Amino acid sequence: MPTRKMILIFLGPPASGKGTQAEILGKNLDIPVISMGELLRYECNHHSKIGEKIKEYLKKGELVPDDIVQNILLRRLEKKDTKKGFILDGFPRRIKQVHYLENIKKIFLSSSDLLIVFYIKVSDQEAKARVIDRRVCECGAAYHLKYNPPKRRGICDVCGKKIYRRSDDDPKVVSKRLRDFHRRIKPIVDYFSRQGVLVEIDGEKKIEEVQEELKNRLNEILNSA
Ligand code: AMP
Repeated sequence: MPTRKMILIFLGPPASGKGTQAEILGKNLDIPVISMGELLRYECNHHSKIGEKIKEYLKKGELVPDDIVQNILLRRLEKKDTKKGFILDGFPRRIKQVHYLENIKKIFLSSSDLLIVFYIKVSDQEAKARVIDRRVCECGAAYHLKYNPPKRRGICDVCGKKIYRRSDDDPKVVSKRLRDFHRRIKPIVDYFSRQGVLVEIDGEKKIEEVQEELKNRLNEILNSA
């Protein structure tokens, strides 16, 4: 178990499995996983005023404006459970958010702590195939009807509620999300690569194999730093 505080970041296209991998690793390391998409969907499901605004962006598969995202993220980071570190899933997604992350780093990390960025890579073809069978629950659990189905059909294993397909997992919306992803990810990946904190992971293997690779790469970094 690492003693240094860590911020781990998961980047990847839609349905790359970054959320699933982040959850498994987070449990192992005993640090919370903060999913930006989930925080935003929570706002939508609770019909707040800001939630109604966010819903419009999510439906179209567009990124939510930075000021909204950053406020929601900061509110979540202020909770006590982030003291030992945390995993960010789906943030940053714009270069402006990368700069915001630098502020977060200043608040949360000292010079001996670590920031690592895992970039989970899958092809567009694979991402599209996965999205068709992806189902989620309001509680944040995610399923794949073939590879990771719930025990009872249509029902969440964790909370017993009905699982559903996200509106932005509509195949037409997914193509647009993938195009946007490729356009935006390049400068972000270049930035983290220049900082020497980028770790690329092949996301097309089985869930357990991807997790194994993540753990091995993380241990290598922890042992060498
Ligand atoms: P995800 O659950 O990560 O696939 O995100 C679902 C949706 O939430 C995205 O398609 C965006 O509309 C929105 N979203 C998630 N993360 C961000 C972010 N960092 N900045 C802006 N919008 C985001």
